[in-house]
Amino acid sequence: MYQILGVSRDASQAEIKKAYRQLVRQYHPDTNRDNPEAEEKFKKINAAWSVLGDSEKRARYDQFGATDGGGSPFEGGFGGAGFGDLFGDLFEQVFSGGMGGRRADPNAPRRGADLEMGVSVALLEAANGITRNLEIPRWDSCAACGGTGAKAGTSPKTCDACGGRGQVENVQRTPFGQFVSVGACPRCQGRGKIIEEHCPECSGRGQVRRNHRVEVKIPAGVETGTRLRITGEGEGGTNGGPPGDLFLVLEVERHRDFERDGGDLHSRLLLTWPQAVLGTSMEIPTLIDGREKIEVPAGTTHGRVLKVRGMGMPRLRGPRGRGDLYVHVFIDVPSKLNEKQKALISELAREMKVPVASSSEEGIFDKFKKLFD
Ligand SMILES: [Zn+2]
Ligand SMILES: [Zn+2]
Repeated sequence: MYQILGVSRDASQAEIKKAYRQLVRQYHPDTNRDNPEAEEKFKKINAAWSVLGDSEKRARYDQFGATDGGGSPFEGGFGGAGFGDLFGDLFEQVFSGGMGGRRADPNAPRRGADLEMGVSVALLEAANGITRNLEIPRWDSCAACGGTGAKAGTSPKTCDACGGRGQVENVQRTPFGQFVSVGACPRCQGRGKIIEEHCPECSGRGQVRRNHRVEVKIPAGVETGTRLRITGEGEGGTNGGPPGDLFLVLEVERHRDFERDGGDLHSRLLLTWPQAVLGTSMEIPTLIDGREKIEVPAGTTHGRVLKVRGMGMPRLRGPRGRGDLYVHVFIDVPSKLNEKQKALISELAREMKVPVASSSEEGIFDKFKKLFD
């Protein structure tokens, strides 16, 4: 393409533009009537300009290289207006298909993979924070061969198929010309080296599977789904690259007495009927603050929610501090009463003028009997 415009490969964009303008004037169909050669040349110039005139396309062309000589991409039945654009699109397609981009040096240091692990904690542990010792299976550099994968006393040989680069060029012929793609070397699988005698400890992998003890601090306030990153505790890197990270995905177990809703906690409080009616002051259990005294107002109904400020969960993020504790009231209706209690409640019913089953002489069964007689 550079040949078509008559410029060198390292020409500046301005030089390319200048060359293009000159050639376009020279080979323009208007000044070259009945000259099919000039017409053909004009098309080629425009096609070359559509690539080299665009610094991005030019960079890709330089990198992946469609070859200039031989099968020119511009021969064939294209013509007329819009050829430049059409070629641009095709050029793009040829590049996006089939070439996965250039492979990195196979022997360059590479960061280890990240690991993810689920960790389950009790609600109390989530509220207080906790230190856990975890056993994490991961790949580590093999000590026997120093990570090379070659048997002790031997060393990997440079691959002669690719000269140690790990990649080979592939020439593709397409209707638009020859394109050179770069792929992993099939002989050495892109490693650039060939191991003749594998290390018996790691079978040539250069890494061994091992359990690692990691002490992790789980901060107060974690929730189910919280992801914690433990830097540098993932898989080991290769060729001296840094290790990956370890991610802990938390699950907070359900508690028998406390239900969690974000930063808030919910609990139940069973009140006797007289306590609910007359009100009382009592101690209730909290999750991490021991027993806390609360006031139950007179006339507290079933289902009422009493709020205890600041006795919920610590917050992991956002404004520090803690959520609240919501105490849901349940009224306990006694099913077993002694004679004196029955008499007192009957007395109360008479005072309140509410009809009740007359407890001793006539039970609920007798009442039913009467209805059907
Ligand atoms: Zn190779
Ligand atoms: Zn080894």
